[in-house]
Amino acid sequence: MRIRRLSAFFWMTCIIAFIFILYVMTDLSFNLPSVKPAINIDENKWSAFESKLRHIENELDQHHAVVGEIKSAMSQIIEQSNEYHPPQKRPRQMQKNKKIREFKVVGDEPPRMHIKLNESTCPIQKFSVPKTDVQMLSLYERIMFDDKDGGVWKQGWNIEYNENQWSQKNKLKVFIVPHSHNDPGWLKTFENYYKSQTRAIFNNMIEKLNEGVGRKFIWAEISFLSLWWNNDATEKDKTAFLNLLKSKKLEIVTGGWVMNDEANSHWLSVVQQLTTGHQWLLDNLGYVPKNAWSIDPFGYSSAQPYLLKIAGFDNSMIQRVHYRIKKELASNRQLEFRWRQLWDGVGKTDMFTHLFPFYSYDVPHSCGPDPKICCQFDFKRLPGNGVTCPWGVAPQRITQKNVDERAFKILDQWRKKAQLYRSNVLFFPLGDDFRYDRANEWDNQYQNYDMLIEYINSNDAWNTEVQYGTLEDYFKALHDEVKLSNFPVLSGDFFTYADRNQHYWSGYYTSRPFYKNMDRVLLAYVRAAEIITAQATDTHAVSYIMSLQLRDRVEQARRSLSLFQHHDGITGTSRDEVREDYAKKMLTAIKYSQSAIQQAAYYLLKQPHIQDQTQEDIFLDVDDIWRRHDEIPSRITIALDVVSPSRRLVLYNALAFRRQEILTVLVSTPHVEVFDPEGEPIMAQVSPVVAGERRLGLANNKYQLSFPVTIGPLALTVYSVSLRDAMSINKYTSFSHVRIYNADYWSVDLPKMFPIEQPSARLNEDVSFQAGNSTRVVTNMNGLVKTIVSRDGVATPVHMDFVQYDTQKGRDNNSGAYLFIPSGPAKDFKSDPYPEIVVTEGIHKSTLYAALVGPKTAEIILSVTVYNNPSLPHAELEVSSALLIDPQVDDLELALRLSTSVRNGDVFYTDLNGMQMIKRRYFEKIPLQANFYPLPAAAYIEDENIRFTVLTSTPLGMAALQPGQIEVMQDRRLSRDDNRGMNQGVLDNVRTRHTFRLIAEPALGHCAKPPSDHPSGWLTLGSHVSQQMLLQPPLVLHYTPRGDEPRPNYQKASVNAADIVLASYRTHTTTKKEGTNLHGMGLTFQRVALDTCYGHKDTVEAYPLSDGQFRLSDLIDVKSDRVYESTLTFNQIDKQVLDGIITLCPMEIRSVFVNQTIRNG
Ligand SMILES: [Zn+2]
Repeated sequence: MRIRRLSAFFWMTCIIAFIFILYVMTDLSFNLPSVKPAINIDENKWSAFESKLRHIENELDQHHAVVGEIKSAMSQIIEQSNEYHPPQKRPRQMQKNKKIREFKVVGDEPPRMHIKLNESTCPIQKFSVPKTDVQMLSLYERIMFDDKDGGVWKQGWNIEYNENQWSQKNKLKVFIVPHSHNDPGWLKTFENYYKSQTRAIFNNMIEKLNEGVGRKFIWAEISFLSLWWNNDATEKDKTAFLNLLKSKKLEIVTGGWVMNDEANSHWLSVVQQLTTGHQWLLDNLGYVPKNAWSIDPFGYSSAQPYLLKIAGFDNSMIQRVHYRIKKELASNRQLEFRWRQLWDGVGKTDMFTHLFPFYSYDVPHSCGPDPKICCQFDFKRLPGNGVTCPWGVAPQRITQKNVDERAFKILDQWRKKAQLYRSNVLFFPLGDDFRYDRANEWDNQYQNYDMLIEYINSNDAWNTEVQYGTLEDYFKALHDEVKLSNFPVLSGDFFTYADRNQHYWSGYYTSRPFYKNMDRVLLAYVRAAEIITAQATDTHAVSYIMSLQLRDRVEQARRSLSLFQHHDGITGTSRDEVREDYAKKMLTAIKYSQSAIQQAAYYLLKQPHIQDQTQEDIFLDVDDIWRRHDEIPSRITIALDVVSPSRRLVLYNALAFRRQEILTVLVSTPHVEVFDPEGEPIMAQVSPVVAGERRLGLANNKYQLSFPVTIGPLALTVYSVSLRDAMSINKYTSFSHVRIYNADYWSVDLPKMFPIEQPSARLNEDVSFQAGNSTRVVTNMNGLVKTIVSRDGVATPVHMDFVQYDTQKGRDNNSGAYLFIPSGPAKDFKSDPYPEIVVTEGIHKSTLYAALVGPKTAEIILSVTVYNNPSLPHAELEVSSALLIDPQVDDLELALRLSTSVRNGDVFYTDLNGMQMIKRRYFEKIPLQANFYPLPAAAYIEDENIRFTVLTSTPLGMAALQPGQIEVMQDRRLSRDDNRGMNQGVLDNVRTRHTFRLIAEPALGHCAKPPSDHPSGWLTLGSHVSQQMLLQPPLVLHYTPRGDEPRPNYQKASVNAADIVLASYRTHTTTKKEGTNLHGMGLTFQRVALDTCYGHKDTVEAYPLSDGQFRLSDLIDVKSDRVYESTLTFNQIDKQVLDGIITLCPMEIRSVFVNQTIRNG
């Protein structure tokens, strides 16, 4: 060990010298970064150094480019003169005067005067059911999910019409809207699609849209547009493109980075992807999208229209909705509706939505009910172009000879389609996946339609006016004709989607769960990186130049997160090589975020005013090591010895409230003590590390060190870990009690202070454990939870099982990446008897580990942990499953089933995108797979006595198939393709770890409950806090102090309200006001509504709630007179926010823009 350490030091010295020479050679003024000693002797440091070096080399290459960019950016963006620091070194004297920020105790701020928010003016209606015309859960209750053959419109009926309904004064107005659906990754990677198809679409677009008369087009995916703009578009091309926008021949719809998935995505990531696209549009094209277009995501969440609403959208279009729901809405002419939030009692959240009526968005299913006819009007399918009509009749080129017959044929389809809507304005999308990539397709479509349009418009008897259009054209004509109030109000969501038969798209809720989990990890990193770099920028802890570098790194990470929100990304429905590409991009994004975070943290703590720092210096080590894009990350083992006897732990809390929890780090020796930020020793617990993949084992020279931490809102705080004399008695460090079952053959080699029980007999009874006076858990002899006992002694039975599904194996009827078609109810997962079980029990944290291995099924390392966290006094436990389905198995889906005695009947609640809770019911009338729903973050069931909540770290599929039960899918391995275009199964499973929190909360007496038929639900305060902590773990950074230097910390925020979610905090943001671009920062907040009828009354003492108002300057460094109301994506701002006081109704999301532009002159 010593030799390895010496060699690590040797290499480090060489590298430092090399870096130094490199710097000198490139004539950069620089300060040598403080270098850390080797801390993890087990890791292969050399490769890490190599990559750092490579990075530095790259940085040097980019140096000139960076300087150039900075120069131009600086000329564009002029910060307030008093805030702008020129890139020069300050005299030392001034640096000294800058003191490290003092810790501000929450509550010592003088009370602020403000008018109390009158919540009765808020749209939320909790105690009566908001009125709607269509409530989706009620609709589900009402309709039988029959599947009658409707004739040519298979899933509908035979549409008839009276042609006298149109006249010269009252014409049928048809808008033909050409479009091309471009997936940023599916069968090919994002870049390969661009090179092979999308680039050509843009190139043709700028040529072909200017030919002919009245040609129009719409475009959605900004990830592709930015690639073309930055890599291939010439100045002439760009001008042509801008002219298309200006002349309204081209409309950008939604303008997100991607067309995001709505089942698995977290709303914070949806905001990121939408903002990334909108900011790009504003910066590069000065463009603000107004109409949304989401034709391919596999089901729709009502969180999306709410986000679109506050992003400034007026209208939206959706497509993939259950065929039986489409038929129901169509039969009542309710395919266009005002989509309202579940809890909105006044209609403040309405988003006007158009739903496509038929099977798909392709041309055969768009012009009218008969695909055989509509296909003949997709002129890409003219003979000889490689695409045909599967209905057997090919399109004909329109000629003078056939135009009358052809025109009437499509008119008849349009007229039939118009019967399904309330107006005479008809929307006809003309496109498909990656269409218009060849010039002759533009010619074929537009030239043939030119003739049809001209012929129909000149035939007065037909009373029809046809034109090319954009969404804006269509919606304008529609709203001119029909008042908004004449459209129905709908609330609820559109899960679970089925496109035909019993093909329910509930498989993708779980497909490729490793990457779904990675998505959440990356989200936490992007949020933390964005917030901490914004703090460092706004407090001038970093120079302006460095703030631009930090911005770039965060933006890179944000773009990878945004890309993965695509409906073939996080959904797990891309081909293997594309999935790999996404994962590698996410891995890089995690590293970019870590780099930005550690650097920002360093400067916030030290504020050293090194103005010309241009390197990505590693000052602090992030305690989360992602080695590969498909491997569960590991932790740093803090090596303490006489050479470096102490280590500082910098903890960052990216949440806007003070968190209190038990933190665990790994240390190389059990002889340690922990000091709090004041330097006082605190009680710590040392436990052995239990590890393994198939079998359990105790790690050598590695221990868990657990202790309670408190971190203020958006604060950095420093704890330390020190080596202590092995001989001395230390009343502050305690050692876990260890029990080892079914492994009497182990020779345990733990230091003697750990009390060990290792019975030789097989375990044949329940196991019970708790931490201090925490929640107590009882498991069965296999380590599976049986009962949770609260601090007050209330026992809640929770029976945990793993179960497995097989797939149906019919022709065109099997599970795949999208579809879940089980062969029947789940069977028990049978693991080998007498699994190895280890229990470590201590004052702060107790864990049971069990190795559950089933022959030819799966291996699961299950760990069940309870924490002694008095700030969350409810009964809570953490379950972590690290699992791998046996690669020998063809078709297997594994689920975790939790059975309780909660008498919830068939009612349960799940979240939508982590934003809000929706009520659901189990329905016998629909198949098993139809009863599965997305579980992005949380689910609960309740009766009059108790609520049982499940929180998840990974978006997965869930169901509540029996009263009292919640089942969460874990992974799926499937050998077959499910015929939705991917052309492969899902066989690339890797070992995956999910973390769940199970919470049992009693009902509180004397509580005003929402009515039982309210379609919305709310988490309790305890569950909300726990969920936020799970989503956004504290960041742990390490460094070695030089001697006994003072402990730095950073806390600015005096706001501490657990119901306020800081969704986004971006620097270097652009907005538009009265035609001019302004620069500054953008922030978005959500105030959650909470259920007060369950939980623990003491939780609010540790996690106080807001009264719906706070002053922004109490949270971040900002001048109160520069705060403006803003759209969600900051592309437009409104009036000034008085005194910078932000008011929020429960469930409201609000964005503000802080103007940092200096006025000219
Ligand atoms: Zn798509």
